[in-house]
Amino acid sequence: MSKRMETRRYDVVIAGARCAGASTAMLLARHGLRVLVVDPARRGSDTLSTHALMRGAVFQLRRWGLLDAVRSSAAPAIRRTTFHYGDETIEIPIKERDGVGELYAPRRTVLDAALADAAAEAGAEVVHGLSVIDLLRGRQGRVRGARLSGPDRRPVEVEADLVIGADGIRSRVARILGVEPHTIATHATASIYGYWREIGLEGFHWYYDLGAAVGTIPTNGGEVCVFASMPQERFESGRGRGLEALYHGLLADVSADLARRVASSEGPGKLRAFAGARGFLRRAAGPGWALVGDAGYFRDPLTAHGITDALRESEFLARAVLAGSDDALSALQAERDERVRGLLEVTDRIASFEWDLEEVKLQHLRLAREMNALVDATRALDETAWGASARITARAS
Ligand SMILES: Cc1cc2nc3c(=O)[nH]c(=O)nc-3n(C[C@H](O)[C@H](O)[C@H](O)COP(=O)(O)OP(=O)(O)OC[C@H]3O[C@@H](n4cnc5c(N)ncnc54)[C@H](O)[C@@H]3O)c2cc1C
Repeated sequence: MSKRMETRRYDVVIAGARCAGASTAMLLARHGLRVLVVDPARRGSDTLSTHALMRGAVFQLRRWGLLDAVRSSAAPAIRRTTFHYGDETIEIPIKERDGVGELYAPRRTVLDAALADAAAEAGAEVVHGLSVIDLLRGRQGRVRGARLSGPDRRPVEVEADLVIGADGIRSRVARILGVEPHTIATHATASIYGYWREIGLEGFHWYYDLGAAVGTIPTNGGEVCVFASMPQERFESGRGRGLEALYHGLLADVSADLARRVASSEGPGKLRAFAGARGFLRRAAGPGWALVGDAGYFRDPLTAHGITDALRESEFLARAVLAGSDDALSALQAERDERVRGLLEVTDRIASFEWDLEEVKLQHLRLAREMNALVDATRALDETAWGASARITARAS
């Protein structure tokens, strides 16, 4: 699906072609903008992330007509989530609402490829193997394009009215712009995960105990992602024993049943580890630039909401771009911060591991309210017309 760059002048250039960048590219291209999206990673490559989609993400995929791509990948339908608090088990069926009666957890190899393909089908130029290495500036410092490079390519310059950094937590675009977080969370969790077969559990299972949480995420190819999360300090002090020992030790500490199931199943190819990073909010936009996805807003993965956030915020950004003024882009920041602050706060509280099981149960109820409010905000978009601007801003440079 990837195309070669055909022109050096675009309405929008996007760094990053995964859930935030590819979705934004798809939406803008569907509304007639000339979009280039580049990513150094291969199309359909994996990334360091588990992949549980919450209702808001499935809702977006359905609204955009992409749910069939996920279903046809044979990602299993998730029809219930089971919370385990010590010995107590609470099973929550996924209710039918907004046309969503089941959740999914496709591998990123599936989801990100489907989004990149949808962007290309909409007319965006999607080029893998290419990175944004610098930004071009106009006279008043306004961003007016990007310098791109790849391993076997000489750097090229492309002009654009807007450059979007959808380039993840360590965003190079944010770094070049010098945009620091204006809000930083207090806590960070680390996690280790791997893929197992036939563990005999249905749906999502989230297990909580003091100082650790583990869980299961059924995905493509009959595999189940089993993760173990812990405070960053516990990871740092335990990693010397080796990832395997730390992982299996945590599984056994939190759920003897899950540890037993894992011990008797086939897997994992290789365990993967994330050492943790504190959540943050960065400025969302400025003259000629915007940030979306983890580049602009990151929250601890323990609440498994980053992909859902990226799919929602990409539409808010695309709509602000189509509104065609710098004011619409500037307004985005306050609106996004207002939308996500509650989720960031409750995620930080859960990621603290400074709770007992009664408190974490209450925090999960709060998390569910925050997630529902975000689905409501997405649904409300259907009542707002898209802007029709083919030009993004008056070029001030
Ligand atoms: C351990 C872990 C588990 C997680 N589990 C879940 C979960 O279960 N559910 C969930 O919803 N979320 C989860 N998340 C969060 C989720 O992974 C992120 O929120 C999501 O990937 C953000 O998408 P993104 O498109 O913003 O960034 P990314 O997915 O990070 O993609 C950024 C892309 O930008 C590209 N890029 C980087 N630099 C450049 C450049 N200079 N030029 C061009 N491109 C560039 C990269 O190659 C990359 O492909 C998890 C995260 C972690 C770390």
